Amino acid sequence: MSSPRHPKGLYLIFATSTAERFSYYGMRAIFILFLTQALLFDTEKAASIYGSYTGLVYLTPLIGGYIADKYWGIRRSIFWGAVMMAAGQFLMFFSASMLESVSMSHALMYSGLALLILGNGCFKPTVSTLVGQLYEPNDKRLDAAYTIFYMGVNVGSFLAPLVCGYFGETGDPHDFKWGFLIAGIVTLLVVLLFETQKNKYIVSPAGEQIGIVPDAKTGAKQEKEQPSTAADVAKRKKEKRTNGLMLCGLTVLLGVLFYKLFAGDWVSVGIFTACIVLPTSILLDGSLTKIERSRIFVIYIIAFFVIFFWAAYEQAGASLTLFAAEQTDRTILGWDMPASWFQSFNPFFVVILAAVMPGVWRAFDKRGMEPASPTKQAIGLLLLSLGYLVICFGVKDVQPGVKVSMLWLVGLYFIHTMGEICLSPIGLSMVNKLTPVRFASLMMGIWYMSNAAANKFAGVLSGLYPEAGKVKSLLGYRIETMFDFFLIFVVMSAAASLILFLLTKKLQRMMHGVR
Ligand code: GLN
Repeated sequence: MSSPRHPKGLYLIFATSTAERFSYYGMRAIFILFLTQALLFDTEKAASIYGSYTGLVYLTPLIGGYIADKYWGIRRSIFWGAVMMAAGQFLMFFSASMLESVSMSHALMYSGLALLILGNGCFKPTVSTLVGQLYEPNDKRLDAAYTIFYMGVNVGSFLAPLVCGYFGETGDPHDFKWGFLIAGIVTLLVVLLFETQKNKYIVSPAGEQIGIVPDAKTGAKQEKEQPSTAADVAKRKKEKRTNGLMLCGLTVLLGVLFYKLFAGDWVSVGIFTACIVLPTSILLDGSLTKIERSRIFVIYIIAFFVIFFWAAYEQAGASLTLFAAEQTDRTILGWDMPASWFQSFNPFFVVILAAVMPGVWRAFDKRGMEPASPTKQAIGLLLLSLGYLVICFGVKDVQPGVKVSMLWLVGLYFIHTMGEICLSPIGLSMVNKLTPVRFASLMMGIWYMSNAAANKFAGVLSGLYPEAGKVKSLLGYRIETMFDFFLIFVVMSAAASLILFLLTKKLQRMMHGVR
């Protein structure tokens, strides 16, 4: 028996996300080249701007999630998020249109980035939350729904670098503007599509409009059903004050600690401090019941392990692209494939695997063998480790300067994508299932925040990429060859996977009936 159809709203979200991710990845594909070739930053400065941008893009979903839950509601956040992102892309276009006026083009570029970061913060957690709200809680189709949503995300991610790269990266620095313009126009389509179709399709299973009232208000109604006396209210107020003081103290303490640790890199200080303070502040919320708190704790534990997944996975844009450029034979029938094209393999494989995976999980389910969400996350980590193990074989006895077949890298990307399909959409679905509705978008923001930490960590790890004449080491382990380098990721992901596997039974108990 096949599963019943998905609500039409899912396909509206699919299309909206395809267009939004098209603009995000289209801009990202040409951004570092724009910085170095058009704005003439040196590589180090360009890499630092690029790293801060991709890190902050995953930090602001926390703020966007909070605003959506408390004040705006999901629909308004999606609308303003998309409007800000469109404005950001147009500022990038103007920046790239006036390269002759250096200070003006720099100012426009920084303002554009700020709008893209804020817009993404409002859009990304809310659109991800909305998917779950189209279904009844505990609907069995939820993992499949998030996998379909994820497919939409990757259709955009696949097409964008090809289109924006084609028009923007022509060798003439004045052409970057066309890439940004296309990204801006596509973001306007997001606004148009969502605004004109939302009333028709964004409805609950009972046919009611959703995403209009902030989720905190819907949740507060449920809270009020529990009687509270004047003494309770006074107690809560006192608790709130004490918690506020504690959190301020913790912020200062961690801020100082991370400032020392990251030698004054404010983006890292902000990301890592927020990663600890904000999750703690939710746990301290007096309105949480014991079961809700326990479920939220599960999200935190898994989000921590997921950091290791994305840190190894995100080598794609950095060390693995260097490996593609320098040590991979990219000739196909006499034609030399550009190294950057390797980045399109992943979204391409996601689209294919996302079509297959819901069926695979259904087949397991029919036999009563479908793994629970934490187990799927552990499988994802294991596959990541396996991908690196495969490439370890590829580079094992290869002498410096000799290029290996591209099949090794394609194989790695395929296995990594299998891992991603087990971990990423299922993670989004799990966050939705485990979170009380009044924190829905904020918790999605926390989930995405593990990406912010992971991206920073990935940057540190890719700095260990072996270079002739330089001695590099990690905790006493010397990295001299590509084999030594890839082995770090094999061990790191396998260790994280193993520990998560060992924890799955306990985590499932803490999830209190949610799978
Ligand atoms: N590629 C996916 C997206 O853009 C997942 C990103 C992530 O969570 N790191 O949504």
